[in-house]
Amino acid sequence: MPVTFNIIPDEYRLATDADLTERILSRKSELGDKLVVLTHHYQRKEIFALGDCAGDSYALAKTASQHGAEHIVFCGVHFMAESADILTKRYQKVYLPNPLAGCPMADMAGIGDVLHAWDILTNALPGAKIIPISYVNSTADVKAFVGKNGGTTCTSSSAVKAFEWGFKRGEKIFFFPDEHLGTNTSNKHGIPKDQIAIWDYADPKLGGNSVDDLKRARAILWKGYCHVHTTFRTEHIEQTRKRYPGVKIVVHPECPEAVVNAADADGSTSYIVDYVTKAPPGSVIAIGTEINLVDRLAHTFPDKQIYELSGNTCAMCVNMYRTTLNDLAWCLENLESVPKIEVPEEIARDARIALERMLEIQG
Ligand code: SF4
Repeated sequence: MPVTFNIIPDEYRLATDADLTERILSRKSELGDKLVVLTHHYQRKEIFALGDCAGDSYALAKTASQHGAEHIVFCGVHFMAESADILTKRYQKVYLPNPLAGCPMADMAGIGDVLHAWDILTNALPGAKIIPISYVNSTADVKAFVGKNGGTTCTSSSAVKAFEWGFKRGEKIFFFPDEHLGTNTSNKHGIPKDQIAIWDYADPKLGGNSVDDLKRARAILWKGYCHVHTTFRTEHIEQTRKRYPGVKIVVHPECPEAVVNAADADGSTSYIVDYVTKAPPGSVIAIGTEINLVDRLAHTFPDKQIYELSGNTCAMCVNMYRTTLNDLAWCLENLESVPKIEVPEEIARDARIALERMLEIQG
């Protein structure tokens, strides 16, 4: 019977945090250089504290591609572990301690829907050179589609450069799955509104567009979203500015366009960490991104006032939060038997092209 990931043995399920932490540390020291534990910035703090390398999607993909460890334990979500498997060598094995940790936004662009949309677009726009670009938050088969069709993958920190790269190669960009990152990136490129088309994958007729809309469009954006970052509203910005005069507001570009436009700065997770790190002591900063990162920044920089932008605790990625000490201990103590994340080579081959282009574009 296959292992069911949400039911780990009682030995792990019922252990105390102190016991689990000790076992994780002991297993890490036993494996030494054969193991690396990667942690995304949105992980809960007890997991984050046990990682060897931390970062956002881009930094972790790069670390995975350069690290020589035999066992790569990825405390993040499924698409990240897939990217790590694609970018690593054959002898390396990638694990996701809680493989139920997915990304709902990545799942909004299923390969069937993407292929269907591509067929419709290429038929509606004969002769047009369309460059597909997938956000790194996408499944391996979607990345493979992009690699096979002359496109690239990007992260939130490389989206602007990826669009630039795309426009050098074609007249239109087809971007998925995040409409908001696509819109904010199109704005940074100065693309007029009437040259941006939103592709509603639930609408069978040209994704909700006319042929003229698509002919005019330079950017065609999949109508996907991150439920964490779309929590933020311009009202939150107005309230925050009233409550904390002089506050600086920094948000992630997966937030809606109006929020990004009303903020003082926007950028990837690494950009936000850097922004807070470099702010002088006494700074007051409200952040529009995932709560676990905001909370950790507030604790790391007690000499700065750090707030979560919406003023409540809803902005949590429950999928990132799924990975617990119980999962990590169970995974590390059972590396031989827990299932690995293994992308079939026929998909990995083309997805690797898209990911390697991403690493090259970002530098
Ligand atoms: S924060 Fe949003 S985009 Fe990131 S993993 Fe969670 S659901 Fe996906």
